[in-house]
Amino acid sequence: MTAAAPDPRSCPTCGDALTFEILDDERFLVAWSCVTCGLIRTTEPG
Ligand SMILES: [Zn+2]
Repeated sequence: MTAAAPDPRSCPTCGDALTFEILDDERFLVAWSCVTCGLIRTTEPG
């Protein structure tokens, strides 16, 4: 099944692909950054 939903790994601002960097392996804390506009998001489990 192919959905047209936006990729969560794409930049919400400019739409480019985000690159991720693992900040904390044990807590699954990951930083997603956009090389195009400089946006940075971090995710960690609730
Ligand atoms: Zn961007």
